[in-house]
Amino acid sequence: MTDPIRRRRLGLQRLRDIRRKPMEPAVAPSEGAEVFRACPKCGESSSKLKLNENQMVCPACGYHYPIGAYYRLHILVDRGSFQELDGGAPVADPLDFPNYPDKLEALREKTGLRDALLTGTCRIDGYRAVIGVLDGSFLMGSMGAAVGERLALAVEYADAHHLPLIVFSASGGARMQEGIVSLMQMAKTSAALARFSERGGFYLSVFTHPTTGGVTASFASLGDVLLAEPGALIGFAGPRVIEQTVGQKLPEGFQTAEYLEEHGFLDQIVDRRALRATIAQLLGLHGYKRRRTL
Ligand SMILES: [Zn+2]
Repeated sequence: MTDPIRRRRLGLQRLRDIRRKPMEPAVAPSEGAEVFRACPKCGESSSKLKLNENQMVCPACGYHYPIGAYYRLHILVDRGSFQELDGGAPVADPLDFPNYPDKLEALREKTGLRDALLTGTCRIDGYRAVIGVLDGSFLMGSMGAAVGERLALAVEYADAHHLPLIVFSASGGARMQEGIVSLMQMAKTSAALARFSERGGFYLSVFTHPTTGGVTASFASLGDVLLAEPGALIGFAGPRVIEQTVGQKLPEGFQTAEYLEEHGFLDQIVDRRALRATIAQLLGLHGYKRRRTL
C-alpha cells in the first residue's frame, strides 16, 4: 500500500507536470509519440501543442476530447488555489474480486489519484468553491465506496463552510467489482445532496463525456443547475440494451447532451473554453462573493 503522503506528493507532482506541459493524465507517451493527433470526429490533424492551447477541443470541429481530473483543474481553477480534501478512501473489496486491490494500487501509482473522484477546495475566477472531478482513466470513473465517501464528505464540507459545490462527472456508472456496495453509493450521495439542498446549498453539476449508469441516476442529475459539454453521452443504460428492452428503434442523437437539452433535461450546453466564465457568472448570480486573494 502506498503511503498517503507519497500518494499526495504524486498527485501534486502530476498537477505541476500538467501545468508545465498540459496533457491528458494517465496516458503515457509511447516511444516516438506522434506530435499530431487526428480528431476522432472530423479526422483533422492538430498538433498536441495546439490542442493543449485549445483546452483539448478540436480547433476544426469543436470535438471535446475526454480529459482527466488534474487537467480539468488546470484549465478551470485559479492557479495554486486547489487544495485536496482528504476523503480517506476506504478499501472495499466485499466480493473478494480477483485482483481488485492490486488493480486499485496500480492505478493509484499510475495516476496519482486515490480513487476515481478527486475532491478539494479551489477558487474559480475568485469564487471559492468545493469541487469534485471524476477521472475516466480510473476504472472508467466508476463509483464504488471510495467515490461515494469522498463525494459525501465534499458535500458536508461545502455545507459546513457555506461554499458552493461543483461536480464534473465522467463515469461508466457503479463499480461492478464492489457489487451491491457500489449501488448503495447512489443512495448515500443522493441523501447527502438532499440535506445540502434543504440547508440552502448550491450544487452545480457538469456532465462530461461519457456519464452513464448509477452516476447519472444519482448525484450527477441532482444539481440545482445542470450543465454539459457539447457532444457528451449522457444516459443510464446503453442504447443497445434499451432497444432490446423496449423493442423500438431509438431516435437520432438519443442520449447526447444536445438531445437532452432540447428535451429539458439540461439547463445549458457549455463549450469547455467558456466553462470557467460561465461557472463564475453562475456563482455570482447565486450570491457568492468573489475574493481575489487566496
Ligand atoms: Zn475535429
